[in-house]
Amino acid sequence: MWTNWAGNQSAQTAITGPVSIAELQQAIAETPSLRVVGAGHSFTPIVAGGDRILDLSELDMPTLGDRDGNRIWVNANARLRDLSPALAAQGLAFRNLGDINAQSLAGAASTATHGTGRTLPCLAAEITAAKLVSAGGDILSTDDIPLEMAQVTLGMLGVLTEAQISVVPKYNLRRRVRLADLQDSLANMHQNWAENRNFEFFCIPFTGKAVEIRHDLSDAAEGTAPRDLDMIAVKVLKLARNAGKLSGGVRRMLLKLLTLAQSDEDYVGESWRVLCSDRHIRFNEMEYHLPPDVAGDVLQEVITRLHRDHKDIYFPIEVRQTAGDTACLSPFQGGPRISIAVHTDANEDHRRYFDALEPLFVEAGGRPHWGKMHSLTHKELSGLYPDFDRFCALREQLDPGGKFLTPALAKLFRP
Ligand SMILES: Cc1cc2nc3c(=O)[nH]c(=O)nc-3n(C[C@H](O)[C@H](O)[C@H](O)COP(=O)(O)OP(=O)(O)OC[C@H]3O[C@@H](n4cnc5c(N)ncnc54)[C@H](O)[C@@H]3O)c2cc1C
Repeated sequence: MWTNWAGNQSAQTAITGPVSIAELQQAIAETPSLRVVGAGHSFTPIVAGGDRILDLSELDMPTLGDRDGNRIWVNANARLRDLSPALAAQGLAFRNLGDINAQSLAGAASTATHGTGRTLPCLAAEITAAKLVSAGGDILSTDDIPLEMAQVTLGMLGVLTEAQISVVPKYNLRRRVRLADLQDSLANMHQNWAENRNFEFFCIPFTGKAVEIRHDLSDAAEGTAPRDLDMIAVKVLKLARNAGKLSGGVRRMLLKLLTLAQSDEDYVGESWRVLCSDRHIRFNEMEYHLPPDVAGDVLQEVITRLHRDHKDIYFPIEVRQTAGDTACLSPFQGGPRISIAVHTDANEDHRRYFDALEPLFVEAGGRPHWGKMHSLTHKELSGLYPDFDRFCALREQLDPGGKFLTPALAKLFRP
């Protein structure tokens, strides 16, 4: 049985691992409905639901292909964690990355996976050309499909095999982590995004504090990464929440100790090593991308509601910003967005919390992350994206039989 990382999506269907393009074409030809899996790190039903799952991690293809200046062809199904060292060996790097690098490039791009940085776009926007195998088994490229349609697709236009991506000379980042007063973080967030290459902050529930993380270019000598204390911090937050069921005073004391124990970080390292870390504690997540001018008010209200109505929540709220791009299904299409992400323990019910907050995000014009939980309908999504109907029409044209369309996806992408 296949399950995703969080354990909230599963499928009993067979998993096939073609090793050549011919085998991939054959699998597509002989299966009425199929979906590709990357690393299974999405929370939404975008992998399960077909007759078969294709895992392309063994596709026989070099990790890196031809290079043309700052553009390079890569195996689209390689994991980001394998692409980064391969790029570094050629003196290159991704311009930006998200919190983790376990995803495949195709999986990450298909849902518009992003990091943080006011001038730094999501991964899909770095794709400058692509090759894919269509529902009919033909090999298509971005000469056949407009690039802005092919960058973010949730795997519905075809199976991505190779991508040409825009990269930068490899670089080091200075990582600085510090505890701040939450109200200061809220007041200064726009300035912090303006002043730092990468800036994000985590609001720690019930403490009045936030952890601010800055990354800036550095030529200083590389240092040693401190031990990853995030996992311990989240465990203490959970412990405090559980203790709080017996005594509010004990919860407050544990949270106070946690903020006192939070030590600052300041070191320099290779960009991809510094930007990405491992996530050991499983969670469910909802993330909405908001117009920057309304995000502060929405965030304030989210925090108010969390403190008032959701004493069981212990995961911090993550706040990031991503530059705008032109991909038709990119939540960042048309201008930068500030992303607010809320999480719950993977073993606990997320609905009460997510259902209470989602209307705030929607009313503010937020667009959901395609790989994270949301409850929007075809009509609502169509209203959020100027090119949504055009994308749906192209999808219908390329895959009229719905080979890459599951019932869950059909609800969103078929009028
Ligand atoms: C711990 C954790 C941390 C995360 N951090 C971030 C973050 O910092 N920023 C962020 O934006 N998101 C983040 N995410 C979300 C994650 O990046 C996305 O859900 C991403 O899509 C997962 O990539 P994947 O390789 O696991 O793809 P999957 O979840 O396996 O697939 C995603 C989609 O891509 C399609 N697909 C995969 N391969 C192909 C292919 N070859 N051709 C066509 N379609 C394909 C699948 O069919 C599916 O529709 C995180 C998720 C987790 C669990």
